Amino acid sequence: MIKDISNLQVKLQALLASQQSLYTQGKVADYIPALAEVSAKKMGVCVTTIDGKCVGAGDYQEAFSIQSISKVFGLVMAMKRIGDELWDRVNMEPSGQPFNSIIQLEWEKGIPRNPVINAGALLVADVLVSHFSSSKLAFLSFMRKLAHDDSVFIDNHVYQSELAHGNRNAALAYLMKSFGNIQAEIPDVLSHYFTQCAVAMSCEQLATSLLFLANKGVDPRTKKIICSPRDAHRVNAILSTSGMYDQSGQFAFSIGLPAKSGVGGGVIAIVPNYGVICTWSPPLNSFGNSVIGTNLVACLAEELGLSIYH
Ligand code: GLU
Repeated sequence: MIKDISNLQVKLQALLASQQSLYTQGKVADYIPALAEVSAKKMGVCVTTIDGKCVGAGDYQEAFSIQSISKVFGLVMAMKRIGDELWDRVNMEPSGQPFNSIIQLEWEKGIPRNPVINAGALLVADVLVSHFSSSKLAFLSFMRKLAHDDSVFIDNHVYQSELAHGNRNAALAYLMKSFGNIQAEIPDVLSHYFTQCAVAMSCEQLATSLLFLANKGVDPRTKKIICSPRDAHRVNAILSTSGMYDQSGQFAFSIGLPAKSGVGGGVIAIVPNYGVICTWSPPLNSFGNSVIGTNLVACLAEELGLSIYH
């Protein structure tokens, strides 16, 4: 692995320039209307390392809707709070189905395939609602603590937009409740889930906040334990097999990093014992992954020799 990133700034700028015209190859998500208001031309990239470097280019300091990337943080909170009990209620297998698919839930009796598809994240939201007196505040303060930045905020416009168009997520939650796998009231679970999806953060803030997953669970800046090495390993494993929706196999095959994308156009990739890459570009491919963001992670992984499978 190439650890010298002294000319990374120049590389990142050149990479962004090479991708600039490709925004027409994807489509900005519009099933949550507020997301469709974001310019398709936005583009940012940031790399942070566990030894304290942070290099970015383009719109890397602009906040965007983190959407499904929030599932990573919710999962860490739930693992910490209830331990292995969590794995009685959610599996750790790739789904091979779209992120909001309902079909497997019926077959598998209300047990979601993994915690980073919507059904699994709603289950995690239920755990948080049931175990924190104010789960939304706890989530926001966790994000601010990890980002070392109190300006991280919940975008209420995105929250309201999602709440008004959240019927499929409601269906997933009610189906799980019918199997006895949701404990709290459904409106509370949905409200928590939409709140965490509506958190707005920049590439720089996300790449900073996830360094603990590249560092065996320890925040390298403060040396505080965020999760156990075992849980960091488990989260990275889930991201490797399931983090990029039903394109996860192809992503592992060609890029080889634990990663998570969100329909707001963000992609985060964890490089164990090294650092974190975060990219943002709203147009998505047919799997729901950012076209340019995925290309950027691919180019960086290749150029810096970052794949975990080498
Ligand atoms: N809030 C989105 C939803 O539940 C998140 C989807 C995503 O980013 O994959 O539909």
